[in-house]
Amino acid sequence: MVTYYRMRRDVIVSERDLLMIPGPIVFDPAVLRAMSKPTESHVSASFIEVFGRTLGGVRKVFLSSNGQPFVMAGSGSLAMDMAAANLIETGDDVLVISTGHFGDRFAAIAGRYGGRVQVLNAPLGDIVPLDEIEAALKARQFKVLIVTHVDTSTAVRTPVKDIARLASQYGALSVVDGVCATAGEECRQEEWGIDVYLTASQKAIGVPPGLALMVVSPRALAKFQARRTPVAGYYVDFANWLPIMAAYENRKPAYYGTPAVNLIYALDESVRQILAEGMDARFRRHRIMGQAFKAGLAAMGLKEVAVRPEISAFTLTAAYYPEGVDAQLLGKVLANGVVLAGGLHAQIRTRYFRIGHMGAVTAGDILATLAAIEKGLNDLGYATEQGLAVAVAQKHLLQL
Ligand code: PMP
Repeated sequence: MVTYYRMRRDVIVSERDLLMIPGPIVFDPAVLRAMSKPTESHVSASFIEVFGRTLGGVRKVFLSSNGQPFVMAGSGSLAMDMAAANLIETGDDVLVISTGHFGDRFAAIAGRYGGRVQVLNAPLGDIVPLDEIEAALKARQFKVLIVTHVDTSTAVRTPVKDIARLASQYGALSVVDGVCATAGEECRQEEWGIDVYLTASQKAIGVPPGLALMVVSPRALAKFQARRTPVAGYYVDFANWLPIMAAYENRKPAYYGTPAVNLIYALDESVRQILAEGMDARFRRHRIMGQAFKAGLAAMGLKEVAVRPEISAFTLTAAYYPEGVDAQLLGKVLANGVVLAGGLHAQIRTRYFRIGHMGAVTAGDILATLAAIEKGLNDLGYATEQGLAVAVAQKHLLQL
């Protein structure tokens, strides 16, 4: 492939560019190589072994020894759709706690399945206070509570441990959208009593786009078994997939819909790497890298969308453009070899930008990204104390 980067380096992406958006991310080369194997039959003994062990590995990544994993061909929105389709019936009361774009999407999905949805909206950049959630749970018997672990439009992390505890205390199932969090932010599904934790492959799980993953608790499966009506979606019906997932885990052939064979090779490799790192070490690495990056941005005078450091995600950062700078910054940063994302939240879309730092991201990537942002800011006439951002971030990164 020819890349004409010398001509229009601000628009042409080179294979050496660092993809620092909040998914898809830079993938580990061994994960990409795993995908490029010749495709086997989905019922061959060797693929059954790979998929079976991957499902077992997914349980460990989600820290749920007793949950039922589902790994489906589709994006993260499929996982959201599947959770809602199976757990919500017409007339069910559903509480959605929204910290941005993806909370709002989940509310729309829950409504599509006939849920009587109440949404608690967080102020921009903030979370919904726990006492407000508790008051809502007290006032009405909800069947399902839905919350986004990290909303990718605001980079706000919600305290899902406390929220899941409240849900279970008031008899509601908890569904957590972990698309921008799972395998990066701390989450202990079983210990924290989360009923459904779902994600997509292209984020901290570290596999190219195309897989939807979720682990469902025994309590949620029991609620599913007790449905009064059939699931409206055919592809997403748990009943169709449960025997398939069980068969692969029991190393038996089974077919319902063809699995994404090559993506599952990649997931097998990525899960192996994640577990080799260890979940605690991985959560810590994301925390240190996230804090390093945010400290670097602050050193350049940039302000985050998240209103307090305690609720600012470790997997990504959303920051306002400083005075006199706009979305041109993204082109300038790309000219220095780093791909960033623009705004997504409707209220502030043109006023901020987003940087993903999760999965296989390295300390070097964090430093290179800060350096490219600093160069871009300087190119646009915004002065920084030269090199300070990188120096400040490095102090954090030395803890790794
Ligand atoms: N939830 C969150 C928190 C997300 O970040 C995203 C994707 N950015 C989704 C859901 C939807 O996932 P997908 O784009 O893979 O459908």
